[in-house]
Amino acid sequence: MSRIAGFNLGKAIRATLGSLEKRVIGALMLIVLCTVSLQFISQDRAFKLHSESQALSDAAGDVEHADQLVRAVSQFRLATRLYLSPGDSRDAVRAGDELTDAAMQIGTQVTALRLSGVDFYDLPGGDVAFEDMDRHIVRIIEAGRGATAPFAVRDLVESRNAQMAKLAGEIHTQAAAARDEATMKISRSTRNWEMLVTVAGLVTVAVVSVILLDLMRNIMPALRRMHAALRRLADGDLDFEIEKFELRELQALSGSLETFRRNALAVKNLAFTDPSTGMPNRRAFVEQVASRLAREVGPGAQGCVVMLADVDRFKHVNDDYGHAAGDKLVKLIGERMVDELGEGAMVARVGGDEFAIFAPLAEGRSAAALGSKLVSAVRAPFDLGNFTVVVTVSIGLAKCACDQVDCDVNVLLNRADLAVYAAKRNGRNCATCFTSELEEERELDRALERDLAWAFAEGQLRMVYQPIHPVANADGEVEALVRWRHPRLGDISPARFIPAAERSGLMVELGGWIIERALADLTRWPALSMSINLSPLQLQQDGFVGFLMDCCRKNGIDPHRLTLEVTESLSIERNTRALLTLELLRNSGFRIALDDFGTGYSSLCMMKSFRFDRLKLDRSLISDLGKDPTSQAVFDAAVTMALSIGAEVVAEGISEENLVEPIRSAGCTHLQGFLYSRPIEADSVEEYYLGKAALKSKVA
Ligand code: C2E
Ligand code: MG
Ligand code: MG
Repeated sequence: MSRIAGFNLGKAIRATLGSLEKRVIGALMLIVLCTVSLQFISQDRAFKLHSESQALSDAAGDVEHADQLVRAVSQFRLATRLYLSPGDSRDAVRAGDELTDAAMQIGTQVTALRLSGVDFYDLPGGDVAFEDMDRHIVRIIEAGRGATAPFAVRDLVESRNAQMAKLAGEIHTQAAAARDEATMKISRSTRNWEMLVTVAGLVTVAVVSVILLDLMRNIMPALRRMHAALRRLADGDLDFEIEKFELRELQALSGSLETFRRNALAVKNLAFTDPSTGMPNRRAFVEQVASRLAREVGPGAQGCVVMLADVDRFKHVNDDYGHAAGDKLVKLIGERMVDELGEGAMVARVGGDEFAIFAPLAEGRSAAALGSKLVSAVRAPFDLGNFTVVVTVSIGLAKCACDQVDCDVNVLLNRADLAVYAAKRNGRNCATCFTSELEEERELDRALERDLAWAFAEGQLRMVYQPIHPVANADGEVEALVRWRHPRLGDISPARFIPAAERSGLMVELGGWIIERALADLTRWPALSMSINLSPLQLQQDGFVGFLMDCCRKNGIDPHRLTLEVTESLSIERNTRALLTLELLRNSGFRIALDDFGTGYSSLCMMKSFRFDRLKLDRSLISDLGKDPTSQAVFDAAVTMALSIGAEVVAEGISEENLVEPIRSAGCTHLQGFLYSRPIEADSVEEYYLGKAALKSKVA
């Protein structure tokens, strides 16, 4: 604020006029006051000047009259002298005429002076000098009639004329003095007027300047700052505090805006935060990573990686320890990953047990190594207060190269998602990088889900049978395995299309078709028994047991001839309905086998929850026999355990001769694998078993 005359005018104005409204009104009032005062002063001065100039003009007129009076008196005196001492009669006549003219002139001027208010009675001789002019002239005329006027009359006349001349001179002097005074008055008034106008003008200029300065230095900047704050808010920027303004109106507005900003920020934080862990959510991740990709990636920049980490079997933690513990665990996992990744990385919770991770890749640092580092970091136990939990994560990685300019966060997330599925397929507890093949596989999966519906109607599905050989006797058994010959894609593995059927909701229908087909085929081989693979979804299906029994009845098959294979993905220990179905099935005479034993982590739990009739040791355990001591140990333990509960043990996937001996000596009760037979067409089964004698010698 401007400092005028040594005091802070701005401060004074701000103190008294803290409100914009009052400031504007005050400023306008000041301007009006200045203008009115100027107007008033000008008018007053103008009137005064007018009357003074009138007085001057009167005084000037008086001087003029006085001037003429002096001249008339002097002419009168001259004419008197001439008249009283004429040279000849002509002179006397002329002097008489001049005398008369002068007397008339004197009378006229005296009258004019008197009329204009000149008071010369107070002057010496003023009361007599111009009185009785007629008698004075008569006296002169009479005195002039004699040849020579008597001296006494002459003296009298002369004295009177001298008196008149003196008075006229006095009147002239007085009029001139009055005129000079009027002139001085006018010039004084003019000077005063000038000064007043100057002062009033200066005051007006000062007031306007103060107002302008206030406007420019306080009001406009404050309005501009308020506008900037509003603009930031309108642009969605909430990360700043709205300043406090001195002007009352702006103060009120800024208070409301600050409340609005805080509320909007809270809503935004809510929308960008996972409520149970306080971590950023998917939306926050997508927005922040998108802007970082736009800022940080491009030629000359460092690369980065987007990862999706999925906690393996997180559902078990929730089921076993409760959801609060699950949330706590998720938070701890997130924090551990943040600690592990350090500055510059971002970890968000994007699903119940899923994290999205963004990390810049320092030069020479590989994305895969970073993923593996996270996998091992998570593997260390988590302290949940009353208990300690050990979990693993599967991580999918999608790299964005440093020279890549078209990195899109959603594309990277999709890729990481594909990679995480691949990591799950690879056995979990590992990090897998995205490759274009994964994308093709996803495409294929989608195509399979779409085309599977037609496969039944078009007769593209068929059953094949792989023999299972008991070690102790020659009983014949086959495992029913479904096949799909896709018209365009050729033969598709059931390991591929069974999950597709499960995803697309076709599994129950497909499972039903498989059972009907397999049982229909089994009627052709009365001496054989059969294993049928079941999807977990079939065990959840309403009326499944009834359906199976009906099929058996229809085909005249005793349930004892059937073994139903389930896999650990069923998680029966947490699935009472499936467990109940299994119990019902076994009570109905079916035998139940646990397939692919040794691939997952819950096989042992399943063994505890349900007494299986048979264990099928997975191919991966078998193929590593003799090579990997751990596989050998797991294999031996599994066989021992199965035998101890009276279950049969099937070693599946035997493809090499040298494996047979260790498997047999470990105590496996059944053998299955390409070494004996690949899955064969239904029409070839009979033929196969006709040559069984030859096979027997092989098994022996
Ligand atoms: P699975 O039930 O463990 O079936 C054994 C798989 O191992 C079969 O693959 C079989 O062809 C293969 N196999 C057997 N011996 C050997 C060997 O010596 N070496 C090698 N490399 N492989 C061997 P397939 O037919 O591709 O089936 C894969 C999986 O798909 C099955 O594993 C089963 O889980 C599922 N599946 C197959 N058919 C059906 C079905 O009809 N219903 C259901 N629900 N699942 C089925
Ligand atoms: Mg099987
Ligand atoms: Mg198997």
